[in-house]
Amino acid sequence: MKISKKVILLGHFGVGKTSLVKRFVVQKFSEEYHTTIGVKVDKKEVVIGEHLLTMILWDIEGGKSQQHLPPSYFAGAHGIIYVFDLTRPATWETIEEELTYFTERLPKAYKRIIGNKRDLIDEVQLREFQERFKGSYDFLSSAKTGENVEELFLALGLDMLS
Ligand code: GDP
Ligand code: MG
Repeated sequence: MKISKKVILLGHFGVGKTSLVKRFVVQKFSEEYHTTIGVKVDKKEVVIGEHLLTMILWDIEGGKSQQHLPPSYFAGAHGIIYVFDLTRPATWETIEEELTYFTERLPKAYKRIIGNKRDLIDEVQLREFQERFKGSYDFLSSAKTGENVEELFLALGLDMLS
């Protein structure tokens, strides 16, 4: 069966939202910094079990405050990917309040919380992080190496089919 679901990317400026979408959709990574202008919508078809799922991925404008996103960004979203940057504590310190705000707007949406840039932290930092934040995120990913990128999108896809 053919189904399509809208997924929105959320998280601070520079955490890797655009890079994760790019890695997932076209298997590429770039070190260049392109500020996303406005909203970019990408599509990716995935096969999950007997379903052909089209994930419609909405990626937010770089510098825009997340609290001032237009209602159309949220409208009809089935899934949220919230991204923070493992190398920048400021990007995860506000997760709880931000997620509360987004969940109020989208009480039925499925969520995945992602710590990105896994390639930039070493094993010791990784273990410290895992111990301290156990259970408060879903995946640690790298848009650069591709680690856990398919996994995080497919996990959300599977939820959205249920
Ligand atoms: P956005 O503002 O959340 O969309 O962030 P971008 O996707 O534009 O990424 C911001 C910067 O971080 C860019 O220079 C990317 O190349 C870099 N970046 C994104 N993801 C990763 C990652 O997993 N590892 C590394 N090393 N750099 C990353
Ligand atoms: Mg971006």
